[in-house]
Amino acid sequence: MRKGLAPCSVCGAQIQERKITYTQDLEGQLYLVTDVPAQVCPQCGEQYLSPDTVDVLQEVIERGAASAQEPEKTVQVPVFAFPRATRP
Ligand SMILES: [Zn+2]
Repeated sequence: MRKGLAPCSVCGAQIQERKITYTQDLEGQLYLVTDVPAQVCPQCGEQYLSPDTVDVLQEVIERGAASAQEPEKTVQVPVFAFPRATRP
């Protein structure tokens, strides 16, 4: 299934193979999965994941959520709320 990378469907720039950190919030618990193979647009930042990759991600996160797998590490994540906008 490896063929030439398609241009970004958002901005048309040439997308690149990258490893990304995938973040998912599951019932208030944040899960991070590192080294996820993805295609990323260097111009607008749009990320594309293959359906296979998404399947694996869901599996990893579900195992983690069920405590069936020890995380590589646990990090503290600072949380900020987007400031209440001053209405124009
Ligand atoms: Zn783009």
